[in-house]
Amino acid sequence: MINYKTIYFFAPHGDETKEIKQDLSKLFDRLDIHTVESDKEADIIASIGGDGAFLQAVRRSNFRDDCVYLGIAADSNRHFYVDFHYQDIQALEEAFQKDDMDVRRYPTIEVKVNDNNPSYCLNEFTLRSSIVKTLKMDIYISDFFFEHFNGDGILVSTPTGSTGYNKSVGGAVVDPLIESMQVTELGSVNNNTYRTLGTSFLLNRQRPLTLLIDKNTDYYPVMSLDNEAISVQNTEKVELRLSKKHIQTLKLKDNTFWHKTQRNFL
Ligand code: NAP
Repeated sequence: MINYKTIYFFAPHGDETKEIKQDLSKLFDRLDIHTVESDKEADIIASIGGDGAFLQAVRRSNFRDDCVYLGIAADSNRHFYVDFHYQDIQALEEAFQKDDMDVRRYPTIEVKVNDNNPSYCLNEFTLRSSIVKTLKMDIYISDFFFEHFNGDGILVSTPTGSTGYNKSVGGAVVDPLIESMQVTELGSVNNNTYRTLGTSFLLNRQRPLTLLIDKNTDYYPVMSLDNEAISVQNTEKVELRLSKKHIQTLKLKDNTFWHKTQRNFL
């Protein structure tokens, strides 16, 4: 295992998780991995909570690709990005002592709204109409005009995000070893005037997606990156591509994406 020296705890639930953080800090001291107060100095960034907390830990630390993220659940529920449970703190200690973990690399999506600096997401990007009427946009794959969309909006997910919102709207579950982003329609209108593909599709890193919003229908669509809203006015263009940036996570060896998919859904 890489020689980790420092750990930062991201505990969004404040006082509720204070005791957990103290216990975890003592555990890592025993492993000669010491708690730091800034995520920038940490070799390990540990979230305390569920997938939502993990997503926030990654976002708040700016999608660092030179450290590892570690999810530790405060409850006994099963999560996707979170392999360890505070209630089984012994298993966590043993996994570090025995070096019984893998580092997995998860793809992220780069999102550019208008010509602003890029942002990233680990689960998905969504764009939806902010008004009661439908939103229209032209969708390009690379420079190729692919379709004219009329409907509620669009969702673009990573493989690890494919089990989240994407799955609820009929998208496929995608193995994270398949480096791709999945485009899924949200409430598309399909009739003799408007026609879209009507199914989800996957794009690889060489195929960026561009959305050109029809200003006459909605200039202020609601957009999100994972569990945060983006506030941009006058959205005309959104460019998405599978990023070269990966998030590295510490996982138990016998807990693959498909183990988790089976456990959570079947
Ligand atoms: P939330 O609205 O409080 O919870 C959404 C639920 O989705 C939670 O149970 C969360 O797990 C779970 N989740 C998050 N990422 C997942 C993933 N990759 N695979 C499977 N389940 C996942 O929001 P949140 O906890 O901050 O999570 C944000 C995510 O919620 C978004 O990125 C989106 O994927 C998802 N979401 C889903 C819907 C929907 O299905 N209709 C609508 C909006 C958002 P934990 O309990 O472990 O946090």
